[in-house]
Amino acid sequence: MKNIVLVIALLAYLPLGISAQETSAGITTVIEDLVDANRILAAKGILPGYGHVSVRHPDNPMHYFLSRAIAPELVTADDIIEFDLDSVAIDSEGYSFYLERFIHGEIYKARPDVQAVVHNHTPAVISFGIGPIPLRPVFHMADFFLSGIPTWDYRDFGTADDAPLVNNSAKGRGLAESLSDSPAALMRNHGVVVVGSSLPMVVGRSITLEENAQIQSQALSRGDEITYLELDEETLDSVPTRNYTNFARAWNLWKQQISNEGR
Ligand SMILES: [Zn+2]
Repeated sequence: MKNIVLVIALLAYLPLGISAQETSAGITTVIEDLVDANRILAAKGILPGYGHVSVRHPDNPMHYFLSRAIAPELVTADDIIEFDLDSVAIDSEGYSFYLERFIHGEIYKARPDVQAVVHNHTPAVISFGIGPIPLRPVFHMADFFLSGIPTWDYRDFGTADDAPLVNNSAKGRGLAESLSDSPAALMRNHGVVVVGSSLPMVVGRSITLEENAQIQSQALSRGDEITYLELDEETLDSVPTRNYTNFARAWNLWKQQISNEGR
């Protein structure tokens, strides 16, 4: 009887021990990647002092990680805070938070497929959130938004002086509704939100979106008749040469570049 109890106790204990180790290693890796994502996006001019990037908790899909309210270029692992999907900090440690953290929580709630979110204010992208000409893909790396990008309009929530900011849950839900199943949503007179299934993907998409907006703006300002990217969306996912969409190769380069800069 004693042996049976021991075997049961061991069986119950072993998986717990292994799982605890895996959880800890998984979280450490995700936090390291999130710090890298902050520093890469700062180096690329996507998060120059303002804006933020988050990642869903690898073991608990009802939580996510985001830095405390500091410039992305300065973020270290100690600055990363865990939030629930109402954007309430699990352990605040007296830090102040980004006013617009609701962007992240409400999108993770609405989009189970989304694992990482970037919010930024890059100028060329903003220029497409103020007029009638839509932002459309002009080169192959931008094929992730062939179906177009919706625009969230803060004026639906009034025009108080902080109106364009997504500084509460209601605006976050409104933004998530506008985003729907798209890879990004423009935010009128403000910026953009970009989503993806990994940090490398969302970083790559954010950089590519601004590049595309710059190229499209240049062509429009010359008065060119633009040939926009045209692909058969039905067959896109089965194209083997389309492995660039996860931005894995570029991610390795970008990580190397920021580690060289840190020396
Ligand atoms: Zn903002």
